[in-house]
Amino acid sequence: MAVSYIKIDLNAFRRNVRKIRNYIKGEAGLLAVVKANAYGHGVKECLQVALKEGYEGAAVSRVTEGRELRRFGFNCPIYVLGLPLPHEILMGVDSDLILPVDLTVDIEAIEAAAISERKMAEVMIAIDSGMNRIGAHPDEVPRLLEKLKKCPHIHIRGTFTHMATADFKDKDIAQKQLQVFEHALSYMNITDDFVISAANSAGILDIPNSWHNLVRPGIIMYGLPPSQDMTHSLDVESVMSVVTHVTHVQDLKKGEFVGYGASFVAEKDMRTATIPLGYADGYPRALSNKGCVLIGGKRCPIVGRICMDQFMVAVDETVKPGDEAVLVGKQGNIELSADEVAEAAGTISYEILCTWKRIPRVFIGE
Ligand SMILES: *Cc1c(COP(=O)(O)O)cnc(C)c1O
Repeated sequence: MAVSYIKIDLNAFRRNVRKIRNYIKGEAGLLAVVKANAYGHGVKECLQVALKEGYEGAAVSRVTEGRELRRFGFNCPIYVLGLPLPHEILMGVDSDLILPVDLTVDIEAIEAAAISERKMAEVMIAIDSGMNRIGAHPDEVPRLLEKLKKCPHIHIRGTFTHMATADFKDKDIAQKQLQVFEHALSYMNITDDFVISAANSAGILDIPNSWHNLVRPGIIMYGLPPSQDMTHSLDVESVMSVVTHVTHVQDLKKGEFVGYGASFVAEKDMRTATIPLGYADGYPRALSNKGCVLIGGKRCPIVGRICMDQFMVAVDETVKPGDEAVLVGKQGNIELSADEVAEAAGTISYEILCTWKRIPRVFIGE
């Protein structure tokens, strides 16, 4: 086995995906948000599980991600969440991806691609309900619909928006965004099969009036709460563990330092262990002298700066080369959650899940 690996528990993932489905109780369809390689969990394996559990499709960030799913052989609906640039449009239509549109997207290029590919292009109207990231404002919707009406090879599958603060305790801003979305909807021809989507994980958990007829869970499928301010939790389980092994141990005398910049100085005689992962693997350098890892079921604090490929932790006298070290996830009965690591690094769990590079994935379960 590799010295370092990312362990993905597909059974835990399946249980999470089921819990979300049961919570929605058939009131809306489910899209598995699998952008960024399923938040670092491996898109092929995770999407297979979600589809088997009745999710109706996938949401990805870019056309290239959608095309990769087609290459893997997935034939489910694939929604692209980020706006396509002109040079991506032909590839998007060719791969039967559902493309988001607003007034800044080259809609004529979508029509031309559909004609040259002899198919209908599928689009979703992106609505900016306040986040100011992508999408049309409600008062731009009539003009956008006018433009789309001139394109007989484009089918408007539905519309979506995104909430900026659904994970806040106070849902005021989210509810205002949903009102803006309703205003945009009032211009559209809402048939039975018209797709309406606004809910991310936080919307699913805490804002049932954001569900409409299609929800987009991301982080909760991977076993983490969207924030610490959620009212509902669903008791999801973490799916990812990042595992490596101690390569070296060192006995320090009081006054000796550790690592670049000599930023840690031993206050007493102590033992350190060297861990063969660093910021080139995605481990945040911000954890220098801050975070911890699990060795022998105990939290061992990081000492000194994170190097490109290695870092050091304080350990007791029982630790020896070859011992397992867990950077994120479970070791025996104790867990170092992505939330705890994120807190120490000054970021959010999402970034800790997506950060890993250069480390192979090992799948268990299924
Ligand atoms: C990433 C993303 C989601 C999923 O968000 P989570 O908070 O992980 O559930 C849903 N919709 C859009 C548009 C996104 O970009």
